Amino acid sequence: MVFGTGTRPSWVGMADNYQTEISVREFLPEIKAAQATAIMAAVKSSIYFNLCISASAVLIAVVVNGPSASMFVWLAIAHTILALRLSFQRGMDARFVAAGRADTALRVLSYGSFASGMAWAALPFFIMDFNGGGKDAFLLLIMVGIAAGGVIRHIAYSPVALTFAMPPMMSIVLTLAVEGSSASTILALNVVGLLVVLYKSSVAGEATFANNELGKLRATRLANSLREANADIMQKNARLEVLANCDPLTGLSNRALFSSRLREHIASADAFGQEVALLIIDLDRFKSINDTLGHSAGDSVLVQTSARLRAVIGSKGEIARLGGDEFAIIVTGTDAARTARLAARDILKKAKAPLTVGGGAFVIGTSIGLAAFPQHAETAEELLACADMALYEAKERGRRRLQEFNPRLKSQADRQRQIELDLEEAIRTGSVEAWFQPQVLLNNREIVGFEALVRWTHPRLGYITPPEIVQAAQVMHITDKLTAHIAAAACRLLNRLPELGLPEATVAINVSPREFSFYSLADVLGLVTKQHGINPALLEIEITEEAIIDTSIVGNELKRLEEAGYKLAVDDFGMGHSSLAYLISLKIDRLKIDRSFVEGVANSRHNQALIAALIGIGHTLQIDIVVEGVEHEEDVEVLRVLGCRIGQGYLYARPMSPDKLDGWIDAHRQTITARAVA
Ligand code: C2E
Ligand code: CA
Ligand code: CA
Repeated sequence: MVFGTGTRPSWVGMADNYQTEISVREFLPEIKAAQATAIMAAVKSSIYFNLCISASAVLIAVVVNGPSASMFVWLAIAHTILALRLSFQRGMDARFVAAGRADTALRVLSYGSFASGMAWAALPFFIMDFNGGGKDAFLLLIMVGIAAGGVIRHIAYSPVALTFAMPPMMSIVLTLAVEGSSASTILALNVVGLLVVLYKSSVAGEATFANNELGKLRATRLANSLREANADIMQKNARLEVLANCDPLTGLSNRALFSSRLREHIASADAFGQEVALLIIDLDRFKSINDTLGHSAGDSVLVQTSARLRAVIGSKGEIARLGGDEFAIIVTGTDAARTARLAARDILKKAKAPLTVGGGAFVIGTSIGLAAFPQHAETAEELLACADMALYEAKERGRRRLQEFNPRLKSQADRQRQIELDLEEAIRTGSVEAWFQPQVLLNNREIVGFEALVRWTHPRLGYITPPEIVQAAQVMHITDKLTAHIAAAACRLLNRLPELGLPEATVAINVSPREFSFYSLADVLGLVTKQHGINPALLEIEITEEAIIDTSIVGNELKRLEEAGYKLAVDDFGMGHSSLAYLISLKIDRLKIDRSFVEGVANSRHNQALIAALIGIGHTLQIDIVVEGVEHEEDVEVLRVLGCRIGQGYLYARPMSPDKLDGWIDAHRQTITARAVA
């Protein structure tokens, strides 16, 4: 029998096969505590019951046998043991031993019940001429009863039950066996049978108790873990909600939350007759900061900008980051448009102060578009589109400004949208075509080349400007198609030029800087020139200066074009900020000096100085110079003196459709001859 130490309890595995021993061991301390608590509760009443029974046993014995000192000695011993057990019990109760040190409690309880059991076992020996089969049978009855009662009361833990029940039962067997009569022998055998039954019931009873307890503990643990899992899920959900609605970098609302808030505000403004104003804010040239100073510098700009916006807006509106460098502010109330206008001016004023980025100080220009409900739009989507149009206009008009929406912007946007929708089909059917403007030597007007310029007359919208076409192609991601279409026209002209007596003339096409990131120009041109059997050295690619800023994509693509043998020209030279290092590292063939420097050059010392400087750069780098926008004869002489060789402009010819070229070339030859003769 186990006296409640850490060894394997007898009940493990009984009555419940599927409970593995390992999982039982996990719960053993709690089961022991439950056993100790149950036994403590049962033992107390057992002790009182024992006090009464032992007293009445002695009383009956006195009646049957007459008084004797030994019986009172027994009673005194039995009661002392019970009293000691009671006081131990109290002590353990006070110290919560059952819960904290269940093993100890069970051991003490077992010792106590053993002591009482032994006292009951000793009772027959304290009675003179004990006769279990005769006059003292009642005592045996009481002892059997108390033993059986002990087993039932202490079903939770068999050692307590058995240490109490076994000694009196064995004592009964012993006294009956000693008597030797056949009746007492039969009785003794019966009691042995009873003893076995009691033993088995006690062990089985403990197993049932422990298994019940195990079931309860498992259920509780399951409930607890479900509760914890639930709490965990709730917490994760809350975090996901924050993530779903919040921009992690700036802590501002993101686009998703912004859209739903805007819709809510418009619904309530509609109901209460109020206004909703929307500001869309965009940082100028944020992309180049990101590209040149790195993403952490870009992040820092965004964080500092959001702090500035918060400082200006405070509780007057809700700020969101829509993505990239685009922010939005929703302002509500009866006077929302006015409040938003004032806030926007404040933002523009604050934006003039530099931000610290990557150890340096930078002024980041800010453009703002403003639109209001119900003045400009009826729905959230419309309001956002209007504010976007206003922002676009602010950027078009030179950035660093606030632009309010007006209906003209809407019709402009509608026009752009229509252009976007129809462009691809127009390229396919040939409505979009290339016109050509000649380039001539300034000294004798001899034709040396042509520039291809895109032309499209829309059936409904009329003349569409080249920048509108290029912009639409970018929006629709068909810049490769547009460029291939113009390049093909350039190749067709190149193939005709020898017949026209101009075997060495070049044809230039324009490529917008942003195209490089969408497709490989070298691949597209490779295909087109191969199809037409063109020598790449006769095809010139004009790239606006902006494209020469060094990004790896542009760099790679330019290198490939150069290696393929195309002529490269830098367009609008002097306007932007091409890095000299780049001009040197690339084999640029031509610099095209922008029209704005050429205008009125004969009478402008300033423009003359500028052109002289630009030509100086060209000569040093051994790059040919072309001047654009030559309109007046008087400027030609000055340009020649300054060192320009080739010119292009209305003075010589406007861009013309390919079918007009033959006639013009003939007429031009006659003019040259006439001039030479004169
Ligand atoms: P750009 O490359 O600077 O082209 C020269 C522009 O100046 C042309 O305008 C041309 O018509 C105009 N021009 C030429 N000579 C004179 C002159 O003497 N006086 C004045 N006032 N203007 C003159 P256009 O055709 O409207 O093109 C505008 C811009 O659109 C071009 O500027 C070019 O950057 C772009 N572009 C034109 N065609 C294409 C194209 O096929 N692809 C791309 N990506 N861009 C193109
Ligand atoms: Ca050009
Ligand atoms: Ca130009």
